Amino acid sequence: MKIGVVGGGQLGRMLGLAGLPLGFQFRFLEPAADCPAARLGEIIRAPYDDLDGLERFAQDLSFATYEFENVPAETAQWLSERLVLAPTARALAIAQDRIAEKTTFRDLAIPVQNFIGISSANEIDAAVRKVPLPAVLKTRRLGYDGKGQRVLRTNGDDAVTVRTAWNELGRVPCILESFVDFSAEVSMIAVRARAPGHGSVIAFYQLTQNEHRHGILWKSQAPAPCDRDGQLADAAQKYVRALLESLDYVGVIAVEFFVTPSGLVANEMAPRVHNSGHWTIDGAVTSQFENHLRAVGSMPLGSTECKGSSVMINLVGRAPITSRIMEISGAKLHLYGKGARTGRKLGHVTLTGPTAKTLEAATAELEKIVVWDV
Ligand code: AMP
Repeated sequence: MKIGVVGGGQLGRMLGLAGLPLGFQFRFLEPAADCPAARLGEIIRAPYDDLDGLERFAQDLSFATYEFENVPAETAQWLSERLVLAPTARALAIAQDRIAEKTTFRDLAIPVQNFIGISSANEIDAAVRKVPLPAVLKTRRLGYDGKGQRVLRTNGDDAVTVRTAWNELGRVPCILESFVDFSAEVSMIAVRARAPGHGSVIAFYQLTQNEHRHGILWKSQAPAPCDRDGQLADAAQKYVRALLESLDYVGVIAVEFFVTPSGLVANEMAPRVHNSGHWTIDGAVTSQFENHLRAVGSMPLGSTECKGSSVMINLVGRAPITSRIMEISGAKLHLYGKGARTGRKLGHVTLTGPTAKTLEAATAELEKIVVWDV
C-alpha cells in the first residue's frame, strides 16, 4: 500500500521508518531539497499548494496523511475530494486556529482556561475585562514551539500591556488566554481507527509528562510521574475519547494538558504524530508512527502497551557527540539527518527500563551530555 504524506520532515521520516517493514510505500510532498524523509520514499518536490505538484502527489494514491498542521486548508480540501485523507480536513482546520480549538474543547466539556479572541485594537479593552492578566497572548494561527506568543503580567495598565504585545506579534488575529499556574504538563497520545465491518476502536498510550525549555520540548517521561494514582490518565482518556468521537477522527492525535490543583486544563491538540510520543518507538509494543499508518490505511491497530518506563530527550540546535550518547547503556539514538542550526530539532534519545527508578542514573548522565543551541 502506498501512503502519501504531506511534509517530509522528521515526522515523515519516522512514519517511513515504521511503515517500510510492514510493506508500506511512501510518497512525500515536500518543497525543500534533501529533507529528512528523502530516503524513505518518492519525493514530489513542490510547494504544498501547487496544483501541479498536488496532481503528481495524489496520482494512484488511496490514502494520504500529513506530518505538520500548517498544511494549507485548500490543499487538505483538494486531497479529501480525491482520496482518503486522515486525519480529516476538519480536524486540521480546528487545530490550525487556537480559537476553534479551545471552542471545540469547551463545547465537549473538556476544561479550558478563559480565553477571548482579539482581531483589532478596539477589542483590547473588552478582552482584558474578560481575561484579566496574568495571561498569555498567542497568534491564532501558525504558532509553534512557543513562537508567536507573549506571557503578560499585570503592570499598571493591562490594556496598554496587551496592546504593546499585540503590536509586537504583528497585529494579527490573536487569542488572549488566562495564565495557568500549572504543576506539570502532560500529553495524551491516542489513536482511533475504523474497525473492520463497522464502528471504531480507540487505543491510548500511557500519559506522558513533558518538560519544556525555551518553549521547546526538552524531556518526555512515560508513564507520567506526576500521575501517581492514574486519575489524570483516566481524565485525559475521557476527554480525548470525546474529542475523537465527535470529530469521527482517524489516526494518531496528541492532546496537551496542564496539570492544576483542580485537574487537567486542555492547552492544544495536534492532529498527527507528536514529539511527546517519540518514546513509543522504543518504549511501546507498537509505536505511534506504526499505529498512525495502520489507522490511516484502515488496518487493525497494534498494542499500545508500554515496555515499562521511558524517558525521551530532544536534541536541539547543536549536533550531539554521538559516541558519548552511545556510551550510555540502553540509550537509543534517533537522528533526523538534518544539519545543525540554532533552535532546530536534530534528533532525540530514548531510554527504556522496567521502572522509572531504573532510568534515573542514565537520564542524569544524558542530561549532562545534551547541550542545546537555542
Ligand atoms: P503552546 O504553543 O500553546 O503549546 O505553548 C507553549 C508552552 O507555553 C506550553 O507548553 C506552556 O509551557 C506555556 N504556556 C502556553 N499557554 C500557557 C498558559 N495559558 N498558561 C501558562 N503557560 C502557558
